[in-house]
Amino acid sequence: TIGMLAIDGDGDIAGACTTSGLGYKMKGRVGDSPIIGSGLFLDNEVGGAVATGMGEEVLKTVGSFLIVELMRSGMSPQEACEEAVYRITRKNNRYKDFQVAYIAMNKSGDTGSFCIHKGFNMMKWQENKNDVIESKAFI
Ligand code: ASP
Repeated sequence: TIGMLAIDGDGDIAGACTTSGLGYKMKGRVGDSPIIGSGLFLDNEVGGAVATGMGEEVLKTVGSFLIVELMRSGMSPQEACEEAVYRITRKNNRYKDFQVAYIAMNKSGDTGSFCIHKGFNMMKWQENKNDVIESKAFI
């Protein structure tokens, strides 16, 4: 999955995600990416979030919507991404067997990212250049 979040000079946000799904997926499987609220969610009053990884786990927790609602309640993008990952790891004790990663951005342009397994990178365009930011991870 490639997920993108953007904010313009007026503070309006946009986002998108694209995926080919999981390797060796069953015919007919629908992952999280095309399901608004799971793989991607934006609210121009709050911010946006995008997911990658094991879509079934993101779907079961409606992860991107959850992150936006947590930001609405006052969490930073980083805190919200962490809580959305913990929501998965608390419910599924097989979390060591799969990856889920989130990125999020609020209306101020603050960003966050968090994943289960170390090794997920986020690109951030700032000060006229792209910076690679290694995501914090649960394990
Ligand atoms: N999230 C996608 C899916 O489950 C897979 C991916 O991130 O590449 O379909």
